[in-house]
Formats: sequence, C-alpha cells, structure tokens
Amino acid sequence: MLDGFNPDAPGKTILDLTAITPGIDGLQEDVICTINNGEGPRVILCGGIHGDEYEAQIVLRQLVNEIQPQDVRGRLIIIPTINPSASQRGQRISPEDGQNMNRTFPGKAEGSVTERMSAFLHDVVFPQADLLVDVHAGGGDYNVVPMVFGFTSDKCSIDNAALEGILDSWGYPYIEYVEGIASTSAGASPLAGVASVEIEGGGGGAVRTEEVAIMRDGILRGLKAYGVLTKGAESPGNSTAIRVDVRKDNNHMAEGDGIVEHRVPLGAEVATGDLLAVIHPAHGRTGTPVEIRAKGPGIVLRQRARFFIRKGELICNTGTLRA
Ligand SMILES: [Zn+2]
Repeated sequence: MLDGFNPDAPGKTILDLTAITPGIDGLQEDVICTINNGEGPRVILCGGIHGDEYEAQIVLRQLVNEIQPQDVRGRLIIIPTINPSASQRGQRISPEDGQNMNRTFPGKAEGSVTERMSAFLHDVVFPQADLLVDVHAGGGDYNVVPMVFGFTSDKCSIDNAALEGILDSWGYPYIEYVEGIASTSAGASPLAGVASVEIEGGGGGAVRTEEVAIMRDGILRGLKAYGVLTKGAESPGNSTAIRVDVRKDNNHMAEGDGIVEHRVPLGAEVATGDLLAVIHPAHGRTGTPVEIRAKGPGIVLRQRARFFIRKGELICNTGTLRA
C-alpha cells in the first residue's frame, strides 16, 4: 500500500504518505517517519486525523525534524498528518469524500480517499506497535481543556493498570474516561492488539503558543516514561491529574439554531443548574435567549468556539469528577 515502507529498517526513514492516495489535485507531499533503534517499546504517534486540528500536526512535525535514532529505544513511527487531503485544505474532513476519518475504521483498502488512509493505518501501521498515541485538538469548532484518555483490551500487551500509569505520566491537568467507539482510531486499535492514548486540547480556530507547548511537553513526558524516548520534557507537568467521566448526559446540545454565548470559562467547576451558556435567537422578533443549564456538577471540558450553532450540535460538555 506504500511502496518502500519497511517498519523494520534501522535508523530514520521518511516516506511520502500521499502515495497511498495518488491523483488528488494539488496535494503536496506529506510524511510518515519511522525511527528504529534496537529492541524496546514500539509506539505510533499520529496527528491530523481531523485535518483542522493543527496543534497536533505542528508538534509532530517538529518531532520528525528533531528526534534522531539515538534518542529512541525500540521503534517510533510518527505521522504528523494522517489526513493530508483535509489538512492541506484547512478542513476537518476530506473534501474528496466528505467523511469524518475518525468514524471510518478499520477502513477500506480499495475505498475512498479517507477510507484508504484509515485502512493503511489499521492494516499496515497498527501491527508495527504496542501503543498508539492519537493526537487531536479542538480544531476550528471547539475549545478544549488539555486532557488525555485511553483504551486497551485483552489482546494488548498493555493492561488497564499499565494504561493508567501511561495516562498519569502525561502530566496533564485532566484524564477523561469515556466509552470507546470502534470506528475511531483509538477505539479500533485495541481491538487490533494496540493500546491507545488520545490527546485533546487547544482549538478555537487559532494556534495558541501555550497550548502547543502543553501538547508537546505531554508527549515528550509520556514517551520518555514509556521508554521509547531517552529524553523527556523539561517541565514536570501536573503531578496529580483530575479524573473525570464523560457520558451522554454530560453533553449539552443545541435544541435549535442560534448564536452561542458561554457564561462560564472553559475549565470552570459548575454545580447542577448553573448557567453554562445562552443561545441567542438568530431570527424573529424576540431577543429572548434560551438558557443552557448544567445537568450535573462537573468541570467544563469543551466549548463551542464558533458564534453560530445548529440544532443538534454540541454547545459544551462537562466532566463528572470521579470519586
Ligand atoms: Zn479530532
């Protein structure tokens, strides 16, 4: 599926990922980088599955430049942008097929542009590692607190206790517990024997320096602790993460079209009934907004970044503190 891809090749190898989906008008080269240095842990770092989640792609491209074979023990595969057709057009999803890549796993080797990339990741890359680190961000639509979560299964060499340790090693302020979805990258990989960590943070349609730094430091801390990198981050990070559950009830959805005004800051701790946001009408004679109140106590983890929201879209969600 990608000529010349040899995950066992010693040292550092960089190939053009877009060779998997040839013939897309104007698409520029993008990269998959494999770094091997003897025996050790095997990790995939993957970003840009949603094309407009750019903090992840910035950090992973830096790491492709910086990390040399002597910095690695085992194997590190870095894919800064697994969805080049979306990313290079400034979009969350690929314009060729309009699919959300993070709902296309395990993919189709002979399918659409997005499905072919998913199949490459699932069928060819996943078997080369024990741990997938899938790096997301808020993108154009949301602002998100820095948080990590993860999944494993009986098929993986990393059990639940080890996964908890990996999540802690990130030094992030929040660890989220959410039900896995098999059609996502991080949900599909444990079913294929590869435990996963998913990262969130940043967003809001613009890169913020501090969010890039948090993401980069977390990855460096986590990969050093896991043993695949010999150097880590300079900052120690949070010594104790806040653990939160996110279930369906934590999501506050728009019941009609309108204009979003958040009434609490991202990361705020709220009680049941607190006013989270108001949705102002975008038409008609009345200016009366609809109030969105917290369905339970928790921390505001994610907020809609755009003015306008459509019926059924997420306004914000909270995480319920774990006892
Ligand atoms: Zn995403």
